[in-house]
Amino acid sequence: MTLLNIAEICSATRTLGPGQRFAIWVQGCCFNCKGCVSPEWIPQTQATLIEPKKLAEMILSVPGTEGVTVSGGEPMLQAIALRELFIYLRQGRQISIICFTGFSLQQLQSQSDRAIDDILTLVDVLIDGEYIEQLNDNKGWRGSSNQVVHFLSPRHLSEASLFLERKRDVEIHLRHDSALMVGVPTDDFSKSFKRVIDKAN
Ligand code: SF4
Repeated sequence: MTLLNIAEICSATRTLGPGQRFAIWVQGCCFNCKGCVSPEWIPQTQATLIEPKKLAEMILSVPGTEGVTVSGGEPMLQAIALRELFIYLRQGRQISIICFTGFSLQQLQSQSDRAIDDILTLVDVLIDGEYIEQLNDNKGWRGSSNQVVHFLSPRHLSEASLFLERKRDVEIHLRHDSALMVGVPTDDFSKSFKRVIDKAN
């Protein structure tokens, strides 16, 4: 059975792409970008395992969901499970799919990996490249200006400027014993949020 190893989910956000989106952060990354906003999701350890079909059903059952955004962690390390998730989603509805990756599109295309090739046909927008702290210009839905926003389908082409220039905002989702920051934070906000959380702990 194929399982997706996920660190976190947020069933509804407006801070990770156009419209109301279901956000998924996968556990485990092969990069170690300085200033990574989610270092606790870098270790390639087991977090929550879920069947792609179950997750797709969960996503499609949330009222008002227009899209899904996958980040991490490094999504492409779980390409087989991710492909399955995207296929189930699209079988259910023509939902928008945005995916972040630390690999470049060129690196992904040159891997000759069937699952990754299929993912690239299913994703509407791929935001690629490692996060480079010095190139964080605090704009748009990508973490640093070296990252390229690839519109792999025409779905969000008319919103290109939002991906590159949008004023950033974040949502703080309160859980029973924690707070989850959702969105691409500005450099300053990310550091202050970490300080507040560290103090509270
Ligand atoms: S690729 Fe993303 S999750 Fe991985 S270390 Fe870099 S910023 Fe963090």
